[in-house]
Amino acid sequence: MSAWKTVVPAALLAFTALGVHAQGAFPGDKPITLVVPFTAGGPTDRVARDLAEALRKPLGGVTVVVDNAAGAGGSIGANKVAKAAPDGHTLLVHHIGMSTMPTLVRNIPFKVESDFEYLGMINDVPMTLIGKPALPANNYRELTAWIAQNKGKINLGNAGVGSASHLCGLLFQNAVKVEMTTVPYKGTAPAMTDLMGGQIDLMCDQTTNTASQIEGKKVKAYGVTTAGRLSPPALKDLPTLQESGLKDFQVTIWHGLYAPKGTPADIQKKLNDALKVALKDPDFIKKQEGLGAVVVADKRAEPAEHKKFVQGEIAKWSPIIKAAGVYAD
Ligand code: ASP
Repeated sequence: MSAWKTVVPAALLAFTALGVHAQGAFPGDKPITLVVPFTAGGPTDRVARDLAEALRKPLGGVTVVVDNAAGAGGSIGANKVAKAAPDGHTLLVHHIGMSTMPTLVRNIPFKVESDFEYLGMINDVPMTLIGKPALPANNYRELTAWIAQNKGKINLGNAGVGSASHLCGLLFQNAVKVEMTTVPYKGTAPAMTDLMGGQIDLMCDQTTNTASQIEGKKVKAYGVTTAGRLSPPALKDLPTLQESGLKDFQVTIWHGLYAPKGTPADIQKKLNDALKVALKDPDFIKKQEGLGAVVVADKRAEPAEHKKFVQGEIAKWSPIIKAAGVYAD
């Protein structure tokens, strides 16, 4: 009996010591991977790469890399993280798709609300409606005339069913009551290349991908999807789609950071603490603001607020998507 008493606490102590060591060491030397569910060079990728840089220091100098697991409108990358080891080394950077996918894509192989730990939100990003450089329309009014003349012939690029560009494009078609042929890519970086090359006609995409192309006049810009105009020099003269007549048309994309369900609480806390430091990094803020994105304030970087926000977005978008009849299947 006494041997039992002696042995068990010793074993427990050893176990606890090991546990404390393993958890205390996080992240240790092992790199952290930010999975981006879209192609490299696009808006989500850009946010993730800037964030990877900003996270490095608060995580003790560990290497933070980006893995582009693109395809299926962002659900392949999200599923990869949902099924990854819950050790804090594989994280997901995803956008509004986390709240619209459950309605837009009915058969996703993971559950947005229960397969992830919510680590905090990152930013809000407006979208822009843009066109190929050869389009004769130079403003939204001219675009509506061009759309009316070209019914049945218009191509609209997007990042696949469930993506932000998919949602925005569907809402746009619904608002102008003209059906267009959607051309899906694995992200809006390759879609942008094709738009600039004239292979597709129109696209709705985040300003993080479009601001510099608009500024360089490599695409035509027809409006922003926010309620008010934006301030970055490249975007400040662009009217809102609302002021051009698309009443109630408003889409803002946001990004958040997620870990697989079951990630230990102390690792989640370390990651959230690091995220909050990264969100205050002047370089990160400057890069994001220059592209029209707004880094979230402290409260929304809290995991509980993040989850509450996503639940609110699911509740907000589900009836809009259903009422607009914009299901993917
Ligand atoms: N902007 C894309 C979307 O439409 C995704 C991306 O390439 O980041 O969801």
